[in-house]
Amino acid sequence: MVKKVLKFGGTSVGSIDRIQHVAGIIKREFEAGNQVIAIVSAMSGKTNDLINLSKNISENFDKRELDVLLSTGEQVSSSLLAGALINSDVKARTWLNWQIPILTEGEHSNSRIINMNINKINNFLKTGVAIIPGFQGISNNGDITTIGRGGSDATAVAVAKLFNADTCEIYTDVDGVYSTDPNKIPVAKKIERISYDEMLELSSLGAKVMQSSAVQTAMMYNIPLEVRSTFTDRKGTKIFDQDNIDYSKSVTGVAYSKDDAKITLIGVEDKPGVAANIFEPMNKAQINVDMVIQNISADQKTTDITFTIKRDDLLKTREILKANKNVVYKNITQNENVAKVSIVGAGMVSTPGITYKMFRGLADEKINILAISTSEIKLSVIIDEKNTLNAVKKLHTIFELD
Ligand code: ADP
Ligand code: ASP
Ligand code: MG
Repeated sequence: MVKKVLKFGGTSVGSIDRIQHVAGIIKREFEAGNQVIAIVSAMSGKTNDLINLSKNISENFDKRELDVLLSTGEQVSSSLLAGALINSDVKARTWLNWQIPILTEGEHSNSRIINMNINKINNFLKTGVAIIPGFQGISNNGDITTIGRGGSDATAVAVAKLFNADTCEIYTDVDGVYSTDPNKIPVAKKIERISYDEMLELSSLGAKVMQSSAVQTAMMYNIPLEVRSTFTDRKGTKIFDQDNIDYSKSVTGVAYSKDDAKITLIGVEDKPGVAANIFEPMNKAQINVDMVIQNISADQKTTDITFTIKRDDLLKTREILKANKNVVYKNITQNENVAKVSIVGAGMVSTPGITYKMFRGLADEKINILAISTSEIKLSVIIDEKNTLNAVKKLHTIFELD
């Protein structure tokens, strides 16, 4: 008997017709003799609608109550799906976070699943399909929590791990992981097999087809994943621990995100400890600094320091800098209209000249690079937001991904 975890994203359950269609997929799997646990996202747009509702009350809506509110999106789609299955003569039921329970730790809106009770559901699976709303759990004091945007992927991986499932299939609105977002760059190519490392970089750098913390957990526990389409039967993309990675291609994919912001402190005194003084209070406030650039200015006494942070952290960062009496600077500028464009590929390790090729390509398009960061298998640049798609297209072409 094969135990399958099937996760259906927001678009896949975006209407009653689609929910009926998903019920058909599950029924087929169940009647083929598999045990099925389905993880369901909220209907597309629902989570954003709920966030907007809360903003009508307050921009700073209480975090605990926000999780109560947001968790309802997945409950709606789960119960509709269970109802559709029951209507087509398949035994099914929804298991809510507190009924299982799914235990989480961490702060509201950004919790992590740490455990769940598998016994009751395992019993149920002998005769029926279990539907679990994704994206949520409960804390050890019984509060409803959510686990970050796109978190149903992470629920699916956690369920696959804890239930020791044979497969974990991520059903979505594209038929696999592509060399870049196929909805934005139509010449993007489907990747048949991709390593955890590359997928983790791609998703952390903006390819939202998989949520990055889900990939991280899958990598940690060696849980193979398959990303595939809800709407076609085409073969999807396998994400797993590849022993023999194809190094013939230096770059596997191009990702981009628009959630960074850039800050420059102009005329900072150039002496030991100054960078530590700038970043210490930000670190305490858990603000993640991504890229840092320091220029020596003409007078050799002062320097300009540029760094990037998440756009959501901009206000808080400005407040912290203002309150920081240990750093003196002449001026401060910020730029929110930036994008991060990245190339990712395990083959980059062994291919010289990648950096030059990327910079040359962007220069040919007259795109100015505002900041750079590298790791073994990725190279990211910050550029003006308006050049994003142009840059992605160019890099996709010059690294032979079209
Ligand atoms: P779901 O609601 O099923 O979780 P998401 O919207 O979170 O789906 O993720 C699927 C979307 O990810 C696709 O519609 C596509 O636009 C986008 N995407 C971004 N980068 C990629 C990529 N490299 N490959 C495939 N899809 C990508
Ligand atoms: N509904 C949640 C979101 O929109 C979780 C998910 O869809 O995975 O982020
Ligand atoms: Mg998603």
